[in-house]
Amino acid sequence: MNFNSKMKDIKNYEAGKPIELVVREFGIEPKDIIKLASNENPNGCSPMVQENVAKIVSKMALYPDDSMMALKSALSKRFDVEDENVIIGSGSDQVIEFIIHAKANADSKILMNSITFAMYEIYAKHVGADILRTSTQEHDLDEFYDIYKKEKPSIIFLCTPNNPTGDAIDASKLFDFIKKIDNDTLVVVDGAYMEYAIAKDASKEVKPKDLVEQFDNVIYLGTFSKAYGLGGMRVGYGLADAKIIKELYKLRPPFNITTLSLEAATIALKDEEFVNKSIIDNFKEMKRYEEFAKEQKIDIIDSYTNFVTLCLNPDTKSSLIADLLLKRGMIVRDLSGYGMNAIRVTVGTQEQNSRFFELTSEIL
Ligand SMILES: *Cc1c(COP(=O)(O)O)cnc(C)c1O
Repeated sequence: MNFNSKMKDIKNYEAGKPIELVVREFGIEPKDIIKLASNENPNGCSPMVQENVAKIVSKMALYPDDSMMALKSALSKRFDVEDENVIIGSGSDQVIEFIIHAKANADSKILMNSITFAMYEIYAKHVGADILRTSTQEHDLDEFYDIYKKEKPSIIFLCTPNNPTGDAIDASKLFDFIKKIDNDTLVVVDGAYMEYAIAKDASKEVKPKDLVEQFDNVIYLGTFSKAYGLGGMRVGYGLADAKIIKELYKLRPPFNITTLSLEAATIALKDEEFVNKSIIDNFKEMKRYEEFAKEQKIDIIDSYTNFVTLCLNPDTKSSLIADLLLKRGMIVRDLSGYGMNAIRVTVGTQEQNSRFFELTSEIL
């Protein structure tokens, strides 16, 4: 059978291996498996979320509130924007999909960092757009601008903090850059880890309100999957000028967020204390990764997120290290597919991290 020829070029997104698969492949007991591969919150989610979701499970037979009123107004309040500036997706992944389908086609160019979130490329390929990349590991906004001027891309993706490297762009530099971009190029600011960056360094804070107020060609993306601990609920959002949101809405399937997910995200936004504590724990534990890297003489990228990227020495192949860890029940992300000899490790609980240090030093 022939399929859409654009499909040939698409490689499946490599999600962190699910625990269930490691159980089957290696016969390891689930309790002995530690997953530090998808940047989930090791503290779980707010206990308020669990209580409230449990109360509404009886509503499962009914379709969700398609206006998403409660969550939408909670988000617009949180970010001090209007409801018309908000779109909610099944993960911010889905909002990325809407953005690319709304703005690009086979004649378009899409500009992104040399190493960045893999879904930008996958959705770009859906529409057959050309992918342009900068050359450096960190976002170099001068190079972004040079390529922009020459190629006039339809969309520019800026991921700050960046996944899978963990570094972040200075907010003032980001605003200066966007000011130079003309109105017909859509700039996407993916802030999936912004809560962590703000806690570490205020100069990295990109306020969605400022973007929405100053620019009508920018969309900010956020998610409940990371700091809020709701990866399993699949809720993300985009914040932008109402005209952009209106276009994206044309692509939104009805009922794209489940009743339970809407409830979970709405409640999660109310429990700031939980998120703040998770972030404090995260950076406390991250210090141990920095010490570990020093001890082992491996480079670690200064991270503004809940993961660390360990750049291994050339004589230790990251794919091998990731494999050997996997056989011992420790799931991390090998970055060789991104052209890096590195592994990305989600900062886990104190116990999980200790286990990572123990296994990794054994292997090294
Ligand atoms: C995790 C992540 C997302 C989206 O996650 P969802 O679970 O789909 O909300 C988007 N961008 C980056 C950079 C991420 O790391």
